[in-house]
Amino acid sequence: MNDIPYSIDKIPLTSKAYRINTTKNTEVRKTIPTPDYIKIDTNESIDWGELPNLEDLGFTSEKNFERTFMLGGETEALKRLNSYLFETQQLTSYRWTRNRSLGMDYSSKFSPYMALGCLSPRTIYEAVKQYENIIKKNQSTWWMIFEVVWRDYFTFKLMRMQNAVYQTEGYSKKKLEFENDNKLFKRWCNGTTGIPFIDAHMRQLNQTGFMSNRGRVNCASFLIHDYKIDWTWGASYFESKLIDYDVASNWMNWHVQAYEIWYTNPINQANKYKAQEFIRKWIPEIKNLNDMQVLIPWEFKDHSYDKPIEIFKKWTRAINKIKKEN
Ligand SMILES: Cc1cc2nc3c(=O)[nH]c(=O)nc-3n(C[C@H](O)[C@H](O)[C@H](O)COP(=O)(O)OP(=O)(O)OC[C@H]3O[C@@H](n4cnc5c(N)ncnc54)[C@H](O)[C@@H]3O)c2cc1C
Repeated sequence: MNDIPYSIDKIPLTSKAYRINTTKNTEVRKTIPTPDYIKIDTNESIDWGELPNLEDLGFTSEKNFERTFMLGGETEALKRLNSYLFETQQLTSYRWTRNRSLGMDYSSKFSPYMALGCLSPRTIYEAVKQYENIIKKNQSTWWMIFEVVWRDYFTFKLMRMQNAVYQTEGYSKKKLEFENDNKLFKRWCNGTTGIPFIDAHMRQLNQTGFMSNRGRVNCASFLIHDYKIDWTWGASYFESKLIDYDVASNWMNWHVQAYEIWYTNPINQANKYKAQEFIRKWIPEIKNLNDMQVLIPWEFKDHSYDKPIEIFKKWTRAINKIKKEN
């Protein structure tokens, strides 16, 4: 906070204004090396005890396979950093893969480690700079730093906006009308809306505590603009489920979806990002449908998957495009 060229009450209202000035005028502080020992002001020796593993806590790895798809702790965080950057060099394609949803490779998965203090933005920054020097500097390396800077921006903007961020009316002057139908909210939470791109992501969130950025954007937009449910309900639900829950990243992104950007069409996005395989993984009821059917399953009878409450007119173009392209 002491290094950026703004006081908190002057944090710009757009991320672009913040980023351009900040990245031009701020040196990123160096990470501090791990100390060789920790000086403790006591003569008594300290028993640090043993860290329990999952089995000690009553979990079997089989039962919790999905939930433990990422292992916690700093050692694992540094392993992931090393693997995403230097071992597999997936960072090189990040710019073009970051909007996908299936698997571990399309994005870094640094967020759970960052949320719990196992990996710092400065450590990531230094690793990306090293990558640029010895492997490749391209749009992807720029984009990774851009995202981490964005995370900082949300933290500072939340500090500026304070409690308004948690209110339904938010900090913008705009107003949305909500219907707040409890039954629809439950369908959204449970991943049973009948819209495959939404349900696949919500089921993934419920089972793993993780969801891609593309999924978060679509699920938030759908809840707010299609189901007309108060966005703070959705933000609270995400808060209760995400393993990377971070106050500023969650609430500021939800606020953006409610008040600051256009509607996102989940039918079009599923087709645009070729989500068929991801949908089949999380919605077994329609895993046998072909590439076209699995995106618009309500038009076909041979499955037990939920029917949507309504197929909105604004989706017609996207539906026709799916039929033409798949
Ligand atoms: C509605 C909504 C809620 C969200 N809630 C959270 C949350 O609680 N915690 C959280 O860490 N992120 C949140 N995000 C941001 C983003 O979805 C996740 O950071 C990202 O999906 C994590 O995956 P990754 O580490 O593979 O990201 P990558 O794409 O590999 O990005 C690298 C890092 O950049 C940062 N970053 C990327 N995108 C964003 C963004 N839009 N906002 C802030 N930081 C970003 C994260 O620290 C991330 O780990 C939310 C986004 C939306 C739309």
